Amino acid sequence: GMPPLPPPVLAPRRKTRQIKVGSVGVGSDFPISVQSMTTTKTTDINATLQQIAELTASGCDIVRVACPSADDAEALPIIARKSQIPVIADIHFQPKYVFAAIEAGCAAVRVNPGNIRKFDDQVKEIAQAAKDHGTSIRIGINAGSLEPSILKKYGKATPEALVESAVWEASLFEEHGFHDFKISVKHNDPVVMVAAYEMLAEQGDWPLHLGVTEAGPAFQGTIKSAVAFGALLSKGIGDTIRVSLSAPPVEEIKVGDQILQSLNLRPRKLEIVSCPSCGRAQVDVYKLAEEVTAGLEGLEVPLRVAVMGCVVNGPGEAREADLGVASGNGKGQIFVRGKVIKTVPEDQIVETLIEEAMRIAEQMESD
Ligand code: SF4
Repeated sequence: GMPPLPPPVLAPRRKTRQIKVGSVGVGSDFPISVQSMTTTKTTDINATLQQIAELTASGCDIVRVACPSADDAEALPIIARKSQIPVIADIHFQPKYVFAAIEAGCAAVRVNPGNIRKFDDQVKEIAQAAKDHGTSIRIGINAGSLEPSILKKYGKATPEALVESAVWEASLFEEHGFHDFKISVKHNDPVVMVAAYEMLAEQGDWPLHLGVTEAGPAFQGTIKSAVAFGALLSKGIGDTIRVSLSAPPVEEIKVGDQILQSLNLRPRKLEIVSCPSCGRAQVDVYKLAEEVTAGLEGLEVPLRVAVMGCVVNGPGEAREADLGVASGNGKGQIFVRGKVIKTVPEDQIVETLIEEAMRIAEQMESD
């Protein structure tokens, strides 16, 4: 037969400088954090705080809010103060909003010093203000907003173009002795994006914020992000991640969290091991898996639940899990840690699994 696959091995984390985004450390000494961005108008303080609360509840570590106008900048102090997680203000061009965000108590500002320099060279003052307030920065290079001169040199947003832009932007802070920043080099093409981050990782010890930009609607965006982040994180590259989806931000957090769990970069929580079903299935596996997933949503313990369509592979997988079902003949054999504890009629499989899961979860929590 086939030799067994070796266990997947992740390269050690690339060594980086450490920065703080409020209470969250970003860099190789810290766990990889998951971020999202609010979709509310920042001026609508209540709606924004409501969304931040939802993001916090779903496990978001850091949240970014857009700050395109003076009114948005005025909303920042309350948002920064009332948010349960560090807030990053996202600013393009206007230095005055950068100062406002720093003074508002935002944990960090996303801004490209190259843009500031073009209009009103206040990079040095920004570096000083950020230092004084303990505010960190993200330099966010984006394929869609590359420097015209770099675009001209490379013809399009190649990995080399993104990296040259990033290194240049970084130097604008570094020449003022400011080092508390992380960098992103986003592109909508995972292949270009991965190449850019790999190249950037070679050129300095900056902490890196990973993102595939404009990744698309949930299905495509999830896959693009998972593939790109997986390629980079397995090489030890990446310190904080943001999944961009044309979907509610909570979905971004769920996907980001699942990517980290899949790579064992975060402790696994609930895991449903369900079979794809096939001609042998004696039960509607999709429906069963969906109902069990829905019934156990939000469970915080590392529970593996196997949902298997028949008794061919079923018992084997179900044995490997904490809890499982193998179906056949209108019945479900319920396994707990390898042993059949009962056999129930098909219409009681879901409730029995949920009941047992809750019981095991309680045990785990009290251990
Ligand atoms: Fe098919 Fe049974 Fe395997 Fe499910 S567990 S894929 S039904 S053989």
